[in-house]
Amino acid sequence: MFSNEVDVARSPLGAFEPGQAVAIVDYRDKPIGVGYVNPNSLIAARLVSRGLDHALDRSLIVHRLNIALALREQLYPQPYYRLVYGESDGLPGLVLDRFGDVVVGQIATAGMERLKDAITDAVVKVLKPRQLWWKNDSSIRTMEQLPEYADLGHGEYGGEVVAREGDLEFVIDPVGGQKTGWFYDQRENRDQLARLVKGKRVLDMFSYLGGWGLRAAAYGASEVVCVDASAAAVEATQRNAERNGLAERVTAIRADAFDHLKALREARERYDVVILDPPAFIKRKKDFKEGSLAYRRLAELGMQVLRKDGVLVTCSCSHHMPRAALLDGVQQGARHLDRQVQMLVSLQQGPDHPVHPAIPETDYLKGYVLRVLPA
Ligand code: SAH
Repeated sequence: MFSNEVDVARSPLGAFEPGQAVAIVDYRDKPIGVGYVNPNSLIAARLVSRGLDHALDRSLIVHRLNIALALREQLYPQPYYRLVYGESDGLPGLVLDRFGDVVVGQIATAGMERLKDAITDAVVKVLKPRQLWWKNDSSIRTMEQLPEYADLGHGEYGGEVVAREGDLEFVIDPVGGQKTGWFYDQRENRDQLARLVKGKRVLDMFSYLGGWGLRAAAYGASEVVCVDASAAAVEATQRNAERNGLAERVTAIRADAFDHLKALREARERYDVVILDPPAFIKRKKDFKEGSLAYRRLAELGMQVLRKDGVLVTCSCSHHMPRAALLDGVQQGARHLDRQVQMLVSLQQGPDHPVHPAIPETDYLKGYVLRVLPA
């Protein structure tokens, strides 16, 4: 509920504590449900439960976790997935990623922060994890006036945390890594590599821990180069390549992606498959123009290091970058470079990140597998 939808004569927002649980009713007093408020946020209230029968407590969270778990257990043979995806799983402001017996959580709102002990108890009751980490360092917490921190919430320090995907193991860092440490949202998209990379030279840009690159190597790519600006990510990629017996065919390089692509272009290096999976270039709506141009420039650079008949995988995790605009940028770039493009597969976030049809923000990841030919 946005702040301008609240009847502030009846419910002065200033009278609420950030995160306070509330009953939400319509103008005739008909119950809408139970939720929590934040008077400091444009999103003044978030609905957690329809009707007024359930309090926001451990028992409601246990119920939500069990419903979320039932879907993931059906989708995946092993306990490695996003278990809770915020609003889409009826727990606005909460993300939980599961790495076997370790859970990494992210809280984005004051309402969820207030429920942190109840969430911890509920997770322990439902999953009995070895560790529960809180990676509460997202910048959106500032808007909710919450501190940023990352720390163990349950269990004992020590031991490694491993993401499993496509029969590979990736050691992740729940404190120093990106987001929860791993991007499960691309799993099904990375599965697409199976029929694209055998015997091919593959370039994985913005590679982080080598999710795309190592999966390509496992599917039989003859040579894979992973490029990321973070030294820690590059070192971890090398270690993960060794751990999975892929080190001979995988190289990880620390570089700025744009600079590196330009250098490859100048050196006339060519790849069969180029993967572009960058961080969000458009964080706020007003950055659309600049950000969408960055996606186009990146796609052009990617095409310039492709061999004559190559495959480009391009992605955007910016909610503010529409699916069609990403494809438009590719097409404009292709015209500019005198190439022709065939769109083979349209990509989206995996089903452990379900979309809430009433909340377009929950649909954020888009991408394409494209064949690039001379015009
Ligand atoms: N493709 C990854 C996820 C990418 S997350 C995966 O499949 O898991 C974004 C990554 O881009 C981070 O690892 C970050 O270090 C890196 N990065 C950000 N800006 C960069 C730049 N200008 N050049 C290269 N890497 C960059």
